[in-house]
Amino acid sequence: KFSSGLQKTRRVLGTDIRDLFKSEGRLVDEEFLDELFARLIRTDMGTGPANKIRDEVAKQYRGRVVQLEEVVATITTEIREQLRQDHGGLAKADSGPTVILVVGVNGSGKTTSIGKLANHLRSGGHSLVLGAGDTFRAAAVEQLTIWAGRIGCEIVTGKSGADPASVAFQCVDKAMETGADYAIIDTAGRLQTQSNLMQELQKIRKVIDKRLPGAPHEVLLVLDATAGQNAISQAKGFSAAAACTGIVLAKLDGSAKGGVVLPIHEQFQLPVKFVGLGEGLDDMAAFDPDSFAEALFQ
Ligand code: GDP
Repeated sequence: KFSSGLQKTRRVLGTDIRDLFKSEGRLVDEEFLDELFARLIRTDMGTGPANKIRDEVAKQYRGRVVQLEEVVATITTEIREQLRQDHGGLAKADSGPTVILVVGVNGSGKTTSIGKLANHLRSGGHSLVLGAGDTFRAAAVEQLTIWAGRIGCEIVTGKSGADPASVAFQCVDKAMETGADYAIIDTAGRLQTQSNLMQELQKIRKVIDKRLPGAPHEVLLVLDATAGQNAISQAKGFSAAAACTGIVLAKLDGSAKGGVVLPIHEQFQLPVKFVGLGEGLDDMAAFDPDSFAEALFQ
């Protein structure tokens, strides 16, 4: 899955790095290191992560003639190291439903990611209830209702413009009442009213915790990989206000800038839990640094 989803990034990165080796091998000097750095940057991995890779290649090979394969192996290992994370999987409540709140800017792929996550959990034999908390966007509610029908799970919707916190409350309530394993709650993502939005998210958290102390157990932040470095600045406000616990990186397949996973991991200090690799319900994969690093060149 990673391999096909990362085609675009691989095309850019793989070709770029290979291009450095037109002849047989290449002397690792400052010129080579600078060229390598410039090419890494094109994947949007940012200067921090690209510098670390540059330093590692310099440390291992400076003054030597190296082959493409050696440099690729070093880059792969370094990316894997940088992405090492402790909590890749989803949190699980000790008892009662696990409540997952999903936040992110409109258009990031939030609704689609909820459908995929619900499908993933359902396929694993879990029962769940969806909460259509983005009550201001009729299209989002409709989309989630269609996914729920297709996946075969319950959905709680409010009237148009209803208080999102009340939808969230009812969703958790329904999950508890029916003994569901998970409640997944959508939220609004209107950036233009950022401070209201942040207050709304805090209210939702409070209401959920009131119904089920300790919930939400996960707050997933959905980021759009095609937005590259922009995704990062956009999402900072969300991550602070909503106390996020993990990241879903949507649209990784649509981007040649898959390197953005590195600065996201570095700057948010949050595990990347899932990546979106297409528009269909099955097009999501649990994030795994090893598979990711390998898929960048294979
Ligand atoms: P929302 O506004 O954040 O809820 O975003 P949506 O879930 O409606 O997604 C916005 C657009 O991105 C839609 O056209 C989706 O089909 C598309 N999309 C979402 N996730 C992915 C993904 O992982 N890959 C691709 N290629 N498209 C995606």
